Amino acid sequence: MTQAIERLITSQKTFTALKCKECGEEYGLGAKHVCEDVCFGPLEVAYDYDAIRRQVSRETIAAGPHSIWRYKAFLPVETDTPIDVGTGMTPLVKANRLARQLGLKNLYIKNDAVNMPTLSFKDRVVSVALTRAQELGFTTVSCASTGNLANSTAAIAAHAGLECCVFIPADLEAGKILGTLIYDPTLMAVKGNYDQVNRLCSEVANTHGWGFVNINLRPYYSEGSKTLGFEVAEQLGWELPDHVVVPCASGSLYTKIYKGFNEFVKTGLVEDKAVRFSGAQAEGCSPISQAFKEGRDFITPVKPNTIAKSIAIGNPADGMYALDVARKTNGQIEDVTDAEIIAGMKLLAETEGIFTETAGGTTIAVLKKLVEAGKIDPEEKTVVFITGNGLKTTEAVQGYIGEPLTIEPKLDSFERAWERANTLNRLEWQQTQV
Ligand SMILES: *Cc1c(COP(=O)(O)O)cnc(C)c1O
Ligand SMILES: [Zn+2]
Repeated sequence: MTQAIERLITSQKTFTALKCKECGEEYGLGAKHVCEDVCFGPLEVAYDYDAIRRQVSRETIAAGPHSIWRYKAFLPVETDTPIDVGTGMTPLVKANRLARQLGLKNLYIKNDAVNMPTLSFKDRVVSVALTRAQELGFTTVSCASTGNLANSTAAIAAHAGLECCVFIPADLEAGKILGTLIYDPTLMAVKGNYDQVNRLCSEVANTHGWGFVNINLRPYYSEGSKTLGFEVAEQLGWELPDHVVVPCASGSLYTKIYKGFNEFVKTGLVEDKAVRFSGAQAEGCSPISQAFKEGRDFITPVKPNTIAKSIAIGNPADGMYALDVARKTNGQIEDVTDAEIIAGMKLLAETEGIFTETAGGTTIAVLKKLVEAGKIDPEEKTVVFITGNGLKTTEAVQGYIGEPLTIEPKLDSFERAWERANTLNRLEWQQTQV
């Protein structure tokens, strides 16, 4: 095949329609997220999987860019020059020390705490949404955010030269606010919780011609989450894991990793396998896990009250679909207290050297709870998704970590402090032995 023909084929569009998840009605590929002609269900991007299978192989993907765009055939953008700020291809770490502590044999951490450019998995969904926003002709982009999405939208909009106005609940952590303002967007701090912010944004989306990444662009945005699943499969040597543990806010990430695994099976990139999907929520905002545990197939909205602000969505848009995935894959959806979340953040830091934010603390704490309840087999190849960085939520661990030993710039001052530190460590160690 000549190079020219090869290029023609690789740039062929693989996504075909927006399709209602409830009734199957199809819509054109514009900025639309609900089935407004029939049933008001959510719309999802549909693909021509035969076309994808013809375009990609393990080799072509491995030879692609070192970013989410190596999976472009599975993403809803047309351009050959998507916004690429190095998002994706984060480390998959074999977590041996954490595994030993928990009694597991085969544990991996997918570490999006170091994703680029803003240190959370949201850079994936925003890279896709803003690339599509440009294709659809938007010049101003926006979002309703629990924190990380605002960071990501503001940063990537700055890189792409798009106007940006983002909305957050006013009570977010200082790091999340600073981590948005530095990119100089218009930042609206709304006196209310995320669900109120989201409702307001739906109204703004109707009155202003803006591209809201998680409202009118949501079908495109949410596809970006699949890349977490694709990367794990590729990094495991083109194989699916046995069990995954994923944090749930709206439930989008959780359901899209599931979609991603299935697409890799459908296109022959990996062998089919029954992967168990477990979800993690904070007790103070656990509408999906409550429904799961009560055996309900509907979600009862709650008012969030937890330190895990980035996953505090009381009325989760994809909650019902998350329940469905948990049940059909024989997984669990579990929740943990704020104290367990802090302990989870510390446990991951102390055993693996990874400083995650409260959402990651939630996921580690749920992992621990599921292992202790016998819901994860020690032999299972288990992947835990760490989705955000601890430096953005330092408030959460303030008062729960040690303090520096302040000394004079003199050897004897150091020696005394070192002696004291060792005595303290010995005492602490003895206490843990009783
Ligand atoms: C947004 C977010 C999630 C999950 O979001 P979904 O709405 O369920 O897709 C998980 N972790 C972090 C850190 C987030 O910011
Ligand atoms: Zn419909």
